Amino acid sequence: MKRLSFRLASSTLLQVASAALLLITILLTGCTAIKRTAIRGQLRGAFIQPPGAELTRVSPSVYSYRWLGYRTMFITTPDGVIVFDPLNEDAARGLAAEIAKVATNPEIKFVVYSHFHRDHASGASVLPGHPAIIAHANALRELEARALPDVVRPTEVFADEARDLTLGGTTVRLIHLPYSHTDGLLMAYLPKERVLFEVDIIWLHQLPPPGVPDMSFAGVRRATEMMLALDFDTLVPAHGPIGTKADVARYHDFLADLEGAFRASMTTRGMTNLAQRETFLRAQDELSEVFFDVEDALRPKYGGWENFDALILTTSVWCLWHVLTGT
Ligand SMILES: [Zn+2]
Repeated sequence: MKRLSFRLASSTLLQVASAALLLITILLTGCTAIKRTAIRGQLRGAFIQPPGAELTRVSPSVYSYRWLGYRTMFITTPDGVIVFDPLNEDAARGLAAEIAKVATNPEIKFVVYSHFHRDHASGASVLPGHPAIIAHANALRELEARALPDVVRPTEVFADEARDLTLGGTTVRLIHLPYSHTDGLLMAYLPKERVLFEVDIIWLHQLPPPGVPDMSFAGVRRATEMMLALDFDTLVPAHGPIGTKADVARYHDFLADLEGAFRASMTTRGMTNLAQRETFLRAQDELSEVFFDVEDALRPKYGGWENFDALILTTSVWCLWHVLTGT
């Protein structure tokens, strides 16, 4: 009898434990599902949204063409058109159709690559005419080191810090941003129109998508400082809505706050000298706490940015890499 009641008690306990385990599993799975839904939405915002394509007139002669989550720019002049990144074949066809509609002289004389990445630089093969294709010499070097057959090779490169490109009375200054997002990155500045076109450096009200801060944290910070030194009103970024110089300042502050929070947490946790074996070993154990410190420090000011939850970890890893390596 005793044995039976023990069996009953133990089986009841087992049932209660199984039910509790099931409940915890359901709750945890639910939390994971909710988190993943949020992350999916936040990532979609960076690359895919909004749907479709559209043309925006930025100044009387300057237009921005958006294709899904990507944006490029072109300049119309009496002597022809300067096109920036063609993006891809589909976008380039749409771009050419828009140019034909709005330009008095729609002949594309120049295509300027911001950098070698195929998601911005491919598609020139379907543009009409025979435009010269301009890039920085470092971008050509980066391109030649890779197999990217859908990116038409530049026909003109320059190795200087900047090059003025003039067509039909309009001058655009192509400024090199070395070791920032790739080593051959250019931004395009129109001083008369007070417009700046930049690619993959500035993110408006959002953290950079993972992988996009390709290369140097310090170089990206330096690039934002170079942008702030220019006199302009309108920012045409390669992702997101058209903005202003204040958006550059905001992103510059974000990078400074991120690095500041990172270094403050590491100092508090005694990780300032990672060259010491003991400190380095402790850092490996406590690094997750540093990431949580950084997230807590940034959330009050940046928690409202659209992909904060999804990307604060990858963005912090980018900053960690900078702190560890000096890049
Ligand atoms: Zn890129």
